[in-house]
Amino acid sequence: MRIVLLGPPGAGKGSLASLIGQRLRVAHLSTGAIFREEMSRRTSLGRRVAQYVTSGRLVPDALVVQVMGAQLRRLAAATGFVLDGFPRTAGQAAGLDRVLSRLRRPLDGAVILTAPARLLVWRLSGRRVCERCGANYHVRTMRPKRPGVCDRCRGRLGVRKDDEPRTIARRLAVDRTAARPLVRYYRRGGRLFPVDGRGSVERVYGRAVALCRRQEWLSPGG
Ligand code: AMP
Repeated sequence: MRIVLLGPPGAGKGSLASLIGQRLRVAHLSTGAIFREEMSRRTSLGRRVAQYVTSGRLVPDALVVQVMGAQLRRLAAATGFVLDGFPRTAGQAAGLDRVLSRLRRPLDGAVILTAPARLLVWRLSGRRVCERCGANYHVRTMRPKRPGVCDRCRGRLGVRKDDEPRTIARRLAVDRTAARPLVRYYRRGGRLFPVDGRGSVERVYGRAVALCRRQEWLSPGG
């Protein structure tokens, strides 16, 4: 399967994409994670994107498409993928189509996770992230075994800069404006597939896999 996950911040794209990646054995590429990794390694790409990421603004389309194009070209032709956090604008979606058509691996569809605004704010403001390995937790629904300490690597858990209350409001507003033409882009092409993003990640995963089966996006055995 070759899909992109759409939906506002807090809709659960990251958690769902990582479960899909593990269980269906496809590549999970997240622009946010790629950018944070580059920033923590202080690479030149990291320095270029830091000013946008830490203030909740979108990184320019050309740069994002270039980064994701390079990641996709590295995958073997038979490897499926789920993209999370990309594309975020119609310009990026068109750029992605150009990259994939050159690779002769067209997209199966865009899955959009839907959730009410109150749920988005609640999820984002309670999110805690491991400063070392990037694992996600939530103060109510996904607590670590030891408070403030990552179960996986014992790293320190913190609040992402862009999950701070003032930045959350900004991110949701930026997303609402940028996402409208993006959603229209996929709807017009008959490639938009809504999935209810409420409830636990397992429930959302169940709905997403049911959709993939109906659409015959899963490879045999997958
Ligand atoms: P995320 O983890 O997906 O919420 O992304 C964190 C930040 O990375 C965003 O607030 C943006 O600054 C940047 N970012 C991630 N993906 C994109 C994208 N597709 N286009 C532009 N900026 C992005």
